[in-house]
Formats: sequence, structure tokens, C-alpha cells
Amino acid sequence: MPHTPDRLARFARHIVLPEIGGVGQAALENAHVVLIGVGGIGSPALQYLAGAGIGKLTLIDDDVVETSNLQRQTLFDQHDSGSRKAEIAAMWVDEFDDLTEVSWHARRLTADNAAELIGGADLVLDGCDNFATRLAVSDACVAGHIPLLSAAVGRFQGQVGAFAGHLAGQACYRCYVGDAFDADDCDTCAEDGVLGAMAGWVGTFAALQAIRVLLAPTGGFGDPQWGKLHVLDGLQPSLRTMTIAKDPGCQTCKAR
Ligand SMILES: [Zn+2]
Repeated sequence: MPHTPDRLARFARHIVLPEIGGVGQAALENAHVVLIGVGGIGSPALQYLAGAGIGKLTLIDDDVVETSNLQRQTLFDQHDSGSRKAEIAAMWVDEFDDLTEVSWHARRLTADNAAELIGGADLVLDGCDNFATRLAVSDACVAGHIPLLSAAVGRFQGQVGAFAGHLAGQACYRCYVGDAFDADDCDTCAEDGVLGAMAGWVGTFAALQAIRVLLAPTGGFGDPQWGKLHVLDGLQPSLRTMTIAKDPGCQTCKAR
């Protein structure tokens, strides 16, 4: 569908970029992205993905807003304490753009409901706070042939990796972390602390990488960077990139 004058104006700064153009912008508007977690990483990621005109957003977070979240979780304010994060985030999207289709689930994603919650997604962006959920998300992405951007932050360090374990020769998130964390429900933020602006850097970088993946079929920025893990260091500051190889013994993706 051609852009109306109002939509052309809204996305003009994207459409003028040769890497996006009208074709890339249309691809973003046709995309369905599922966000796992709308906290420190998910808040800014959601705001930039909605800003980019992603057509359909599904928000999954079983948490409620606490005062200690406000230091980094930019979607929430002092009046939101005790409210469901997924619902507040969806209300923000509704206000931001009438044409974005948004749905929300205040449920914890587990191995049992993951396929249902992420079904139909073109991309899953995982910014949740525990390994058990991350592994359930990754396994469901491999099974559902859905690309995964996994983003994490603690203290002054962040990581953003793109995984396509459903493809031959490409690693999944489990290839990277192994099987040791399936039962581990740790929230390192509470124990170790995190600089609020680091969560913002990681969240916006994850949004950039999400757009890279979504635009890859149209040429976009080229390579979707499967298996590349970017490590963001806020103290130096610096950005390093590692390559994650497919684990031939990975219980999730070795058959692919
Ligand atoms: Zn794997």
C-alpha cells in the first residue's frame, strides 16, 4: 500500500536514507516484532521500534512497575508503581501511533507457552532478566524458524547478539550459553547494579540490530549478522564483536 502524505511525513527521515527508502519502510510497516521484557532494555527498544513504524508489536512481561525500575525503564513514571508493565507499554504505543497494532501479555514466558506467545513473529527481541526465560525463548525461536535478537545488560556491560539457529550452520542462543542455566532464575541487576544509561545504550543498539535483520531481505544494511555478539562496555567505552559458532552438540539446533 502506498504511503499517505501523513505517513510519508512521519517516516521522511527514514525514507530518504538509501539503506531504507520506501521499500524498506514498507517492510518495517509489514513486520511483526515480539518483545520479551519491556524493562530497561525493552523500554527504549520499543520506543525506537514504534518510531520506526513496525506494524505489529507484541509485548510480553509478567512484571509490575517498582520504584527501583524508574532509574532505567524509560516507559514508566512515578505514578505507575504496581501497574503491569506490559499494559502500560501497550498504552504508550496506542498513544504514540494509531496505526501500530499492539497486543500485550502479562504472563511469564515458559517452555510450555512460548510457541503460542511468539507465533507469527518475524523477529523476537529478548531483553528479559533471567536465563530460564532466555533459553525457553531461544528454543521456541529455533522450533518456529524465527530470528532472535538477544540483549542483556549488567553494571557497565551489555551484550546484543543475533541468532538464527533454525538455519544450517548458524548458532542459536543455547549454542552460546550452554545448558547450565535452564533452572537458573537470577536477576543480576538486583545483585550487581546497572547504570541506567547502559540499559538505554543496549536497548537502542538492539533496536538498530532489529531493524538490520528486518531490512536484510530488501538489501537494507546488508548482512543480518547472524552469530555476531556485540559486547558494549560503558566504562572504556568500547564495542567489541565476537562470533558465536554453532555447537555441533547443541540439544536445540544441532539437527539443523
Ligand atoms: Zn544451538
